[in-house]
Amino acid sequence: MKVDYIIVGFGLAGMAFVAELEKAGKSFIVFDNNENAPSRIVGGMYNPIILKRFTPAWMSHEMWQYSLPFYQELEKKFKKLYITPIEIKRILHSIEEQNNWIVASDKAVMSEYMQPEISNKQVTGILSPYGFGKLKNVGRVEGEELLNDYKKYLVAKKQFLEKSFEYEHLIVRDDKVQYLNIDADQIVFSEGTYLHQNPFFNYLPMREAKGEMLVIEIPDLDIDFTIKSGVFMVPFGNNKYVVGATYNWEDKTFNSTKEAREELERKLNSFLKLPYKIIDYKVGLRPTIKDRRPLIGRHPKYPNLAVLNGLGTRGVIIAPYLAKSLFNHLEKQESILKEMDIKRYEITL
Ligand SMILES: Cc1cc2nc3c(=O)[nH]c(=O)nc-3n(C[C@H](O)[C@H](O)[C@H](O)COP(=O)(O)OP(=O)(O)OC[C@H]3O[C@@H](n4cnc5c(N)ncnc54)[C@H](O)[C@@H]3O)c2cc1C
Repeated sequence: MKVDYIIVGFGLAGMAFVAELEKAGKSFIVFDNNENAPSRIVGGMYNPIILKRFTPAWMSHEMWQYSLPFYQELEKKFKKLYITPIEIKRILHSIEEQNNWIVASDKAVMSEYMQPEISNKQVTGILSPYGFGKLKNVGRVEGEELLNDYKKYLVAKKQFLEKSFEYEHLIVRDDKVQYLNIDADQIVFSEGTYLHQNPFFNYLPMREAKGEMLVIEIPDLDIDFTIKSGVFMVPFGNNKYVVGATYNWEDKTFNSTKEAREELERKLNSFLKLPYKIIDYKVGLRPTIKDRRPLIGRHPKYPNLAVLNGLGTRGVIIAPYLAKSLFNHLEKQESILKEMDIKRYEITL
């Protein structure tokens, strides 16, 4: 078999790159072993604003200008809605926070998302003596459903192999790569936190951030907006909510822990004054890089090998923009923003 590209990993990153290849009429084959992909755990929020400090997350607004139409195109392709706009209500904790909210909401990018007025309308069972700051143009992308639909479509076209890519079988030649019976011009690695298993790119400084979430049921509360205080509480319909998430930089396992559960419940109980039942736990590792910026580019020694990773905490917003940047670099020799370029990290060859 001869293809233009081999793609290793089909989370949000790999999927977004595949979509670029399809648009350009390139041939490809995908390998994915479906192991603990955070792209598939419940979450999927898009929100370009950091709600601790009321500042925009790095390039998130600019990226979302590309990524939103990208998901809308996929909605057309699969004739299904994946984007759910969901307002976020940030609980304000003091007069000072109210003032900070009003000042921040007046700034250029922020005004696209932050509504300037403070809402004092109480929500039964939610403690909010200083009211809420409301965010618009934010919501959720149904990552798992989208990945499943895209995968099904690729499997039918024989472009998807549900298998582990075994690095020892890869032969890198000057003008192509060879993997068992597949010849390809290039290979793109988008393995998320499994980057450390990749002998070509494991020199890059990934610092995985474990995140845990609770799925709860609140029989007396049925709201259609997200509440944010110390944690997010995101509605999933039928009185169900996802509460999260924690950050742990040491533990790299996929086990749910008592400590995380206690932390989430403590933060939840600080504003939720209604009885609830925990019905599930979710655990994942975020592919976070030392300097909190993504990673794209060609391998410094083997130019037919490229990497697409470091989506960190905002994969939904970042993935399509990043995939496009890498595609334009590989196919059109466009330069990569230096903050995202793997060249910022040195390799000892
Ligand atoms: C608790 C938690 C909550 C989050 N909430 C949000 C949120 O609300 N909004 C948001 O935007 N982001 C959120 N994120 C972050 C987001 O999930 C990630 O940024 C994103 O999913 C990373 O996507 P990826 O494609 O890089 O990696 P992954 O999703 O990990 O995909 C990588 C894929 O590669 C495959 N793979 C790896 N190695 C191989 C191999 N050798 N052979 C074959 N296949 C391989 C894996 O099986 C996997 O399917 C959250 C993360 C966590 C942990």
